Amino acid sequence: MKFNKELDDIKVYEAGKPIELVVREFGVAPEEVVKLASNENPLGTSPRVAETIRAHADKAHLYPDDSMFELKEALSLRFDVREETLIIGAGSDQILEFVSRAKLHPGAKVLMSRVTFAMYEIYARQQGAEILRTPDWRHRPEEFLPLMKEHRPEVVYLCTPNNPTGDAMRREEIFEILDASDPETLVVVDGAYMEYAAAKDSDYAVTPREILEYPNALYLGTFSKAYGLGGMRVGYGIARPEIIRALMKLRPPFNITSLSLAAAIAACGDEEFVAQSVRLHQEQIDRYEAYAREHGFDYIESYTNFITWSFGEELNSSDLAEALLERGVIVRDLASYGLNALRITVGTPEQNDRLFAVMDEVLG
Ligand SMILES: *Cc1c(COP(=O)(O)O)cnc(C)c1O
Repeated sequence: MKFNKELDDIKVYEAGKPIELVVREFGVAPEEVVKLASNENPLGTSPRVAETIRAHADKAHLYPDDSMFELKEALSLRFDVREETLIIGAGSDQILEFVSRAKLHPGAKVLMSRVTFAMYEIYARQQGAEILRTPDWRHRPEEFLPLMKEHRPEVVYLCTPNNPTGDAMRREEIFEILDASDPETLVVVDGAYMEYAAAKDSDYAVTPREILEYPNALYLGTFSKAYGLGGMRVGYGIARPEIIRALMKLRPPFNITSLSLAAAIAACGDEEFVAQSVRLHQEQIDRYEAYAREHGFDYIESYTNFITWSFGEELNSSDLAEALLERGVIVRDLASYGLNALRITVGTPEQNDRLFAVMDEVLG
């Protein structure tokens, strides 16, 4: 059967390997498996939010409130923005898809960093758009601006902090790109890890309100990382009403479930859990940096809930990832991004102990 030719060049997104796979393939007991591959929150879900989800179980027969009034109200209070500037998606992933469908088509161009979130490319290819990448993996104005000037892309993605490298742009760098952007270019600031950057160094963080100063910018946030709700699939976009109205035309009705909606509303009222998640990360990240130094390999300074270890010729990231997997520790190999590196989600102290022990075993 023939399918649209746009699909020919699309590689299916490779999600972090599930715990069940390690149990099945390597016979590791499920409770022994440590998954540090999908940037999930190692603290799990906040108990208050879990309680709310349980309390909503008997309302599963009702469609959710499609206006998402309460969640929008909570977000508008939290970010000090008007409700007309908000859109909710099934993860911020779904909003990325809306962006692509709203702006991209064959002949259109999209610009992104050489190494960044894989879904930008997949959604762009679905629309048959041309993909431009910066020469270097770091998000720098001098990488983006000449390409923006030359090609006037329909969409530019700034993933800051960036997945899968963990580095972040300075505030002024973000504003420099926005200031120089063409009014017809939609600049997407994907802040999936912004809570971590804000806690680490405010020079590397922006707020949705600041992004709203620009009529051609869209801020994206998610409940999947610091809020610990990856399984609930809730994200949000914040932009001028003109942009939001266009994206809303692409939104299917009831695009998040009633349980997800309830969970996200409850999560907005539990900032302490986010603070705790960020603190855990700050306490544990030093151990990963120290381990890398002790063993003579590099790491990229992290503004996220993961760290990227990069290796010279003496180590191969794919072999390492495989050796860890066989021992029940799941991490992300970045070979498919052209890097000899591993991306490791920083876990609980016990999970990190386990990773270091298994690394010792593999390296020794
Ligand atoms: C995790 C992530 C997202 C979105 O995740 P959702 O679960 O779909 O909200 C978006 N961008 C980046 C860079 C991410 O790492």
